[in-house]
Amino acid sequence: MKVYFIGAGPGDPELITVKGQRLLREAEVVIYAGSLVNPALLSWARLEAHIYDSSSLTLEEIIDLMEKAVRRGQKVARLHTGDTSLYSAIQEQIDALEARGIPYEIVPGVSSFSAAAAAIRKEFTLPGQSQTLILTRRAGRTPVPEAENLAALSLHQASLCLFLSAHCLKEAAQELATGYGLEAPAALVYKASWPEERILYGSLADIADLAQKEGIEHTALLLVGDFLRGRGQRSRLYHPAFSHGFRRKKDEASHHHLDETGP
Ligand code: SAH
Repeated sequence: MKVYFIGAGPGDPELITVKGQRLLREAEVVIYAGSLVNPALLSWARLEAHIYDSSSLTLEEIIDLMEKAVRRGQKVARLHTGDTSLYSAIQEQIDALEARGIPYEIVPGVSSFSAAAAAIRKEFTLPGQSQTLILTRRAGRTPVPEAENLAALSLHQASLCLFLSAHCLKEAAQELATGYGLEAPAALVYKASWPEERILYGSLADIADLAQKEGIEHTALLLVGDFLRGRGQRSRLYHPAFSHGFRRKKDEASHHHLDETGP
């Protein structure tokens, strides 16, 4: 038996993976991050499953729960919001499980940054605008290395998605304006994919005020960059004059066709 770290998705219970849902259904013990994981997901759990909200537990208590369950021969589903690889604090749990020789596996999930892009119906990487997405946060109780400060990152003018910073949007927007400029388009997506999802559009100059008026201080992502304006250049992937491994250029294809059928 094992501990399964499962990316539970951004909120909509249908945005957990098929594998994550199966493991959640099978688990005898479920530990979920109560502050962020949508409790609706727990309806997949077995009626007799032991369910714990990790927001009231310490790391040591969580690891003890996991160890006892696995030693009893039980399956543990450890639910984290979004994807497991971003701001999930799974590394310290992994290290502790390794130290105790407890087997585990990681099942990735749909991150909130993907859900936010879907909510605003946009693509982060537009040809001719940006081919890079920066996922970052503002320093809070968790420090951010100096080289990754928002002013420095903004100089790339890449598409950017800011986590864990809805409570300090004023400072964040000011720092980001260094490279993007105050007029740069910005969107704030609150609770992407939840029933209470809300989207605010503005610029770096006013997005913090808009958020304050709406009372949004947590569970939101700030998106910044020209991709928000929409149209980039047409992609080469689906362009008739461009061939790639799965499709030949239109004229090549028709020549080939002629060769095969010609006299
Ligand atoms: N592992 C998660 C991130 C956890 S950190 C993921 O991949 O999405 C928690 C932060 O994620 C929040 O402060 C907020 O910035 C963001 N977040 C999580 N769920 C969200 C959602 N449904 N909508 C908007 N932002 C969300």
